[in-house]
Amino acid sequence: MTLAVQLAQAGRRVVLFEKETYPFHRVCGEYISLENYDFLCRIGVPLREMNLPRMTRFTVSSPTGVALHHPLDIGGIGITRYELDLLLARLAAAHGASIQEGTKVTDVVFADDVFTLTTAAGATVRARTACGAWGKHANLDGKLRRPFLASSQQGRQFVAVKYHLQLAGGFPQDLVEMHNFRDGYCGLSPVPGGLTNCSYISDVRNLRAHGNSVAEMERQVLMQNPLLRPYLEQAQRAGQAPIVISQITFRERSTVDAHVLMLGDAAGTIAPLAGNGMSMGMNASFLLHSLLLEFLEGRLSRAELEQQYTQAWRNLLSLRIRAGRLIHQFFGRPALTTLAIQALKGLPGLTDQVLKLTHGKSY
Ligand SMILES: Cc1cc2nc3c(=O)[nH]c(=O)nc-3n(C[C@H](O)[C@H](O)[C@H](O)COP(=O)(O)OP(=O)(O)OC[C@H]3O[C@@H](n4cnc5c(N)ncnc54)[C@H](O)[C@@H]3O)c2cc1C
Repeated sequence: MTLAVQLAQAGRRVVLFEKETYPFHRVCGEYISLENYDFLCRIGVPLREMNLPRMTRFTVSSPTGVALHHPLDIGGIGITRYELDLLLARLAAAHGASIQEGTKVTDVVFADDVFTLTTAAGATVRARTACGAWGKHANLDGKLRRPFLASSQQGRQFVAVKYHLQLAGGFPQDLVEMHNFRDGYCGLSPVPGGLTNCSYISDVRNLRAHGNSVAEMERQVLMQNPLLRPYLEQAQRAGQAPIVISQITFRERSTVDAHVLMLGDAAGTIAPLAGNGMSMGMNASFLLHSLLLEFLEGRLSRAELEQQYTQAWRNLLSLRIRAGRLIHQFFGRPALTTLAIQALKGLPGLTDQVLKLTHGKSY
């Protein structure tokens, strides 16, 4: 969406396909690292006028409840995807992009230097460039036979769940909490409207072991963490219906497949513990929009566009993805997590470094 906004602002003809209809809820922690603040304001998102919670403190706990409290130097803001995505869609449309909601793309074919996209309703659209921002797992990954699919079949799979909680005692507006449990972790952070985002990721084995019941998995696994239990008890008592997604993997992906330029989770899915999937998508859109403009103005060949984008993406983002994967492996293992948190408690400088690895610089 941020790519569509920038290209439309540069006067390019853009069509954005979304199979859902805005606004809608997504599984996401809804924490946006402040590195994106200037960028979002520049493209026209009125963040300054939105009175959003701003987080400057961080708490992480082990499955047994050993906790580390630390300042969050870079910090972030809380905004629901329901609101942000609608805002961006309207912004793109206001600059002339055509937003095709409720439209699923079923095929993308590149031939004779032109892409032909086909929708589920059988319509076709032809374009000089095609970008894939279809998220972690979509029909088009299979259609393009993306190489990561073959390897992900052997890897670990995760499920993710999100609630918006109305907590009786409220939740601090400047705090992010991250609570570990066996084979997963759960984040809590404020979003506007007095709500608290509660989202977690768990190895799918936790769900299977509890009869595929989210409520039972929460009772038997997540609530074993004493710091997390009170939040989830409130959610269950209020009869909150969670949003659930499955088939999440963190395998390495490519930035270009069949000449389609990938960004966001389609280019590389970062473990949510490392926090900043949205930032990475927005950063990639910033890199890609200027290269696309050079290509469309005839200053880059298609081969140069693909090569330069891949290189720029790697330079900026692959370290973060790797760091995320490493941190993700540590967490969720009860003994290792407890050890890591106890060690970090005595090493505030190292904690700062770990947090820095998960955030980028303003752009
Ligand atoms: C539990 C959890 C917590 C997270 N917390 C945070 C956080 O706090 N901060 C953060 O920055 N990131 C967080 N993330 C990551 C973040 O949600 C993602 O990185 C981000 O949403 C990726 O954006 P995207 O545009 O690449 O994909 P998505 O947001 O998934 O959007 C892809 C869109 O493509 C559409 N689509 C797919 N296929 C088709 C098709 N064939 N035709 C038409 N439309 C299609 C989908 O409907 C979807 O709307 C979290 C992730 C999880 C799982």
